[in-house]
Amino acid sequence: MTISSMTSSTNALSATQKECEGIKDLFRALKVESVVFRVNATLLCKASATFKKMFLRNADSTKPIVLRGLKAQKFSNLLWSLSTSSLPQLLDEKSLERLLDVEELAQRFAISQLHIRAESTLLATIAQGKNPAIISCSSRSLSRMVKIVLRVGNQPLFSFLMQMWTWRLHSRELHHVHAMRLAQPSRWAHDPRPFLKLLGHAFYAAMMDVEPKLASGQCININSTLTQPETIHIRCGYHSLRSWWDQIASQPPLYEHSPRCDHPERCSSAWRVRFESIADMESLPFPKVDGIRRIQELHKCLKDDLFLTQSMPVTCRHNALQELQKRRENLLETLHHHFDL
Ligand SMILES: [Zn+2]
Repeated sequence: MTISSMTSSTNALSATQKECEGIKDLFRALKVESVVFRVNATLLCKASATFKKMFLRNADSTKPIVLRGLKAQKFSNLLWSLSTSSLPQLLDEKSLERLLDVEELAQRFAISQLHIRAESTLLATIAQGKNPAIISCSSRSLSRMVKIVLRVGNQPLFSFLMQMWTWRLHSRELHHVHAMRLAQPSRWAHDPRPFLKLLGHAFYAAMMDVEPKLASGQCININSTLTQPETIHIRCGYHSLRSWWDQIASQPPLYEHSPRCDHPERCSSAWRVRFESIADMESLPFPKVDGIRRIQELHKCLKDDLFLTQSMPVTCRHNALQELQKRRENLLETLHHHFDL
């Protein structure tokens, strides 16, 4: 052994002794829910001042120290990471939950090194944007990840997660009820606007599920997981979005003509005629309240419309379609207003 390694190992030993000063027992019992964990007190003291204080405060080693407000499984995941010095590999929902458990508890018990490792692993994997465990995770895990990215103030990752949540609501991969409860702005010490926006999409997805009932005037809260106030918001959105569509269908967007447009009036008239005719069509394959898909379909039909291709200069057509696209984007941003949220 070289002098320097001897010195460093002696230093490490004295540091450990110092960290564990006052701790008499090598092993202590910690009780979480009904489970008693026999833990290595030296290891925990070394890793965290919070644990050290806890052991010093509870000197009687014959009694287990009760940790409240915790799940035994979650704590067991933390102990596994501490004892193996490793993190769960992100393969599926289960391993994602385990990693989130480790990250959250390492923060709670101020186990800084483990916390930094777990947090940076999660952030890097979210940033990759393609890990199957992340992109197919449950609403609960998604909400836990949102909490982390907000805590570290990573705006791009926050936007990515909120966007993923939104589109997975529309594709029915995630249930709207979970979003309605988890995305309540009152749960978050943060700007309420992104959460209101997400809530708007959750209510929209809920409304689309009960649309046939609403259209035929039936009751929507029988056998439903929705609360009474939630059904009122849904009804509110239903009526508001019906009116919204009527307004959209009757007002073709105005657009800027190209300097090369020789007959602006004729150009505008062609746009108006085709717009009103397609927007009015009963054959648009989505219910009137499904403004998001309906306006997307309207855009597609107008883009492919042969009459417009022949009657409008390319730039005019492009500008007109852009204005329509803006209406769709505006709807996506302001859905929550329709549901009075
Ligand atoms: Zn024109």
